[in-house]
Amino acid sequence: MPSLSGVTKQKQIAFYGGTFDPVHCGHLTVAKRLLKIFDLDEFIFVPAYHAPHKAENVPTSAYHRFAMLTLATQNEPRISISTLELDHGKKRYTVETLPEILEGNANSKVFFVMGADSWSEITTWRDWERVMLMTNHIVVTRPGYEITFDHVTDLVRERIIDLRDRDYVQIESDGPQIYITDSVKVDVSATEIRQDVSEDDRLDRSDDVPQEVAKYIEKYELYK
Ligand code: ATP
Repeated sequence: MPSLSGVTKQKQIAFYGGTFDPVHCGHLTVAKRLLKIFDLDEFIFVPAYHAPHKAENVPTSAYHRFAMLTLATQNEPRISISTLELDHGKKRYTVETLPEILEGNANSKVFFVMGADSWSEITTWRDWERVMLMTNHIVVTRPGYEITFDHVTDLVRERIIDLRDRDYVQIESDGPQIYITDSVKVDVSATEIRQDVSEDDRLDRSDDVPQEVAKYIEKYELYK
């Protein structure tokens, strides 16, 4: 949209990869907070067909995970879901998916979003340095995970903009950056939710997932 100065603002879109098995209030808070503080135009969940780094855990069917994401985001006009990874029908690496995302959004400023746990194991990702330098990233704090910078190379470290304890976000235009934000502190994990259902046959803390998702889990008897 043209601004008052007549200069068109570049569209800003965030992509959030993960298994989302199931999507929970941690993920949804990340989406809503980042839309606001980074002044994003769109926030897009990109469910993985099968997270390559979680090879030992076979996720719930992609249909169910996609359906739960749809239910959780249907009242959020700026949040949507991409089937890019699911359409491939096999496990893929971020280094394969990101170029496709960038190609499809060539005129936009693209951010790739991850939580602190993903950041702590980033060096195990295939071609991780290339992934980190390919586009902008937003790393979100997560209770129980410390954010450190010792494990990454200088090339990556020098792109980090630490926004923790700052009440403003300044987007740099000088090449891809890695923004670290502590604007979300929600202690929920999909593993805990699956355990709650399988051990107690119910969702212990009802505010961990939206009500529609809780109902879906019950109806289709997931995680039993
Ligand atoms: P699991 O417990 O199965 O590992 P998860 O809760 O971490 O699942 P994923 O689908 O693996 O959920 O996460 C997708 C992305 O969301 C990852 O980058 C992860 O770091 C991030 N994430 C998940 N939960 C939170 C949270 N509570 N706060 C911030 N980031 C989160």
